[in-house]
Amino acid sequence: MSAQAPVDRATDRSGVWRGLLVEYADRMPIGPDTPIVTLREGGTPLIHSEFLSELTGCDVHIKFDGANPTGSFKDRGMTVAISKAKEAGAQAVICASTGNTSAAAAAYAAKAGLTAAVVVPKGKIALGKLAQAVVHGATVLQVQGNFDDALDVCRDLADRYPVELVNSVNPYRIDGQRTAAWEICDQLGRAPDLHLLPVGNAGNITAHWRGYREYHADGVIDSLPLMHGFQAAGASPIVRGERVTSPSTIATAIRIGNPASWPFAVAAADESGGSITAVTDRQILAAFRLIARNGVFAELASTASIAGLLRMHEAGQLPRGATVVCVLTGHGLKDPEWAIAGAADPTTIPVDADHAARVLGLA
Ligand SMILES: *Cc1c(COP(=O)(O)O)cnc(C)c1O
Repeated sequence: MSAQAPVDRATDRSGVWRGLLVEYADRMPIGPDTPIVTLREGGTPLIHSEFLSELTGCDVHIKFDGANPTGSFKDRGMTVAISKAKEAGAQAVICASTGNTSAAAAAYAAKAGLTAAVVVPKGKIALGKLAQAVVHGATVLQVQGNFDDALDVCRDLADRYPVELVNSVNPYRIDGQRTAAWEICDQLGRAPDLHLLPVGNAGNITAHWRGYREYHADGVIDSLPLMHGFQAAGASPIVRGERVTSPSTIATAIRIGNPASWPFAVAAADESGGSITAVTDRQILAAFRLIARNGVFAELASTASIAGLLRMHEAGQLPRGATVVCVLTGHGLKDPEWAIAGAADPTTIPVDADHAARVLGLA
């Protein structure tokens, strides 16, 4: 056993979730000497939604990946990418990000003792995400351009300088993100009929589809879901069939005009019999509010999956009784502005329970 092998790989018998690289070790690109860099990501809740089930006539579940250690599904890929970077002897990692990738890269690099630099579009990053990169000690560079420009800079850097690129063009990211599909099947005891998720750079839909196909090929599940991906209307290159040079949407995590995994996303939709379509910012915001009123505070971009569900329902495209999983990719606390926007200030009261009771309509 190498000096770096963690005790929990073999000896943790608590039953508490041990992180993806341990839980799915036999399906991961790791060997006995791979250092396991983990924050115990994954194992996120699959939440049955009575409300959405009743509304749609389907059996709707929410895969809440905002419950990951840094608040988004990006941790699933980052535990693998950073572990492999460390195994390969890298000293520094770099990524372009709309915010969540940089938060995850900064956290996992800090855990691994690596240096991280993140390149973000100037002025387009939610405060919570920027705070994460900064607090974990990453060097933040704001590029005068959008996400696609930031990724170009990072690819060029990684080509010509000794630094490891940990964007989802790094295959280890996709490897790690397959685990969301496996968890869903493990939690449901079967594959869903429909799998709905937001699409930005399109790595996640690629990874989920790969995950389902592998479980299917290995006989763990006996059917495959239809993959339905949703882009924001102002950032919907796949739907339009052409690169969007100035993508625009309030859903900043999917504000991407030239997705790196574009062809794989199209293949996922086509091969599964699903689709990639667009939802408007208005539909996303309505879905964000609706799902929060039902107990789940998800990041705005992630609720594109719920907006898509509602739109498909209204268009009569949901088979009655189907088992549907909507992925919520990030946590609402990443960008609380959207929760507060338009809300009234809390009422101020004196230290007086009777006063509080009158305000609450209890007296
Ligand atoms: C990164 C991200 C997405 C988009 O995922 P892709 O793999 O780029 O398609 C969606 N939602 C959230 C919250 C994200 O952080």
